[in-house]
Amino acid sequence: MNYKALILDLDGTVYVDGKPIKDIVSKLNKFKEEGNKLIYLSNNTTVSRSVYYDKLSKLGLNVSDGEVVTPITIAGAYLNKKYKKGYTVGTKSFIKELRESFKIEQDSEDPEFVLITFDNEVTYEKLKIACQLINNGVPYYITHIDLACPSEKGPIPDCGAIALLVESVTKKKPRTDFGKPSNEMVAHIASLISDIPKAKVLMVGDRLYTDIALGNKLGIQTLLVLTGESNFEDINDHKNHHFLVDHCSETLADFMEGNEFAL
Ligand SMILES: [Mg+2]
Repeated sequence: MNYKALILDLDGTVYVDGKPIKDIVSKLNKFKEEGNKLIYLSNNTTVSRSVYYDKLSKLGLNVSDGEVVTPITIAGAYLNKKYKKGYTVGTKSFIKELRESFKIEQDSEDPEFVLITFDNEVTYEKLKIACQLINNGVPYYITHIDLACPSEKGPIPDCGAIALLVESVTKKKPRTDFGKPSNEMVAHIASLISDIPKAKVLMVGDRLYTDIALGNKLGIQTLLVLTGESNFEDINDHKNHHFLVDHCSETLADFMEGNEFAL
């Protein structure tokens, strides 16, 4: 494989429901041992980054500090420059990381912003407070636009779906998001690969409107894998999308062995 860096989506690309796809763990470890770069990039904000490091290590991946990027990396840095306290519709783990790593306090009384995340601990009370604050003029953000997250029993509501509920109630749109393929995320990833020629970097994912879109915005090659959301037929369905897929393979492990579909 003629690449020096891989930017990898996790869910539906490296694993499904936490189980690694084929022998991807040994292949990625070998790729890294050969002096190449790996960036694990998930839009999932149900857990803090430290949970991801633990999870990837437990799968057997040789993962180092700085290799995991989630929207909290981008959102935390962005919000920290403007605000000190906000109301986040998020898991305990997410809110803790926002406080400990980015010095942003949780406040439901007088917050400077509202942040909607992939909160799998969401309650009616949290949604009620968020909608009331937004209706009263507090600016709001969302961590990422994904509508659904894959699970063994089918798609489950993700941040984008929770945000749509809030938007339908408040009739207001979020200021921005921080996940794939937002401009904030593009700038962050571009800074991580600035030392590598673009032709040597590959974006890998299972979703067109986030993973492949991010690769297109970065101006790098893209690989769509068929272990998650997309089918082979989706690639050329240009009535419904305008994203450019350069490579397609059943799995990332297959691609690393040189197997891909002709496009
Ligand atoms: Mg995915």
